[in-house]
Amino acid sequence: MWRREYWRANAEHLQRERRRRYKEQRDRIAAREKASRIRRRDQDPEAFRAQRRVKKKRYKIAHPEPTPACREMFRRAKRARRARKRGAITKPIPPNFLALAIAAFGGCAYCGCALDGSGKTTDLDHFVPLSRGGAHAPYNLVPACKRCNTRKSARDPFEFLHDLGTDFTRYNRSLDKSALLCLIDAAPLEAG
Ligand SMILES: [Zn+2]
Repeated sequence: MWRREYWRANAEHLQRERRRRYKEQRDRIAAREKASRIRRRDQDPEAFRAQRRVKKKRYKIAHPEPTPACREMFRRAKRARRARKRGAITKPIPPNFLALAIAAFGGCAYCGCALDGSGKTTDLDHFVPLSRGGAHAPYNLVPACKRCNTRKSARDPFEFLHDLGTDFTRYNRSLDKSALLCLIDAAPLEAG
């Protein structure tokens, strides 16, 4: 009987102790596994990478991918959420926006390379980054290749173009103006 009383009296403390031990153990195991991973990687990088590939493949089979449209939907929602969180002006982006944008710019808005519009190669980039007060809206979104988007990151867009050596005025003139108008009106277009 005394035992039960002891437990009751010290429940909080005991619980805390248990949690602490559990966490310690978990951290120890995680650290050991990490050390082992690093060891294996350093011993035989090629085998390590091969093993990783196999694991990845197995995972993919076990967890079939969402369809590209599905993934695009997630991406879109995530971007909008992020934009809202930052307090940016947010306007609806129609589903066909990327195709329209690629048509208007004839490819990546920065380097001009061709884009196939797939999530693997193509991003919609906030021309003025959200972190610089840019809007999450059709008029501030341009198609960009992954490379340019990564390199541009949150930089000033004009500075970036300057560093790229892109003559933006000339490039601007070669834009397909009718397609660009569609872009600017894209939100009402979607409603209609
Ligand atoms: Zn590019």
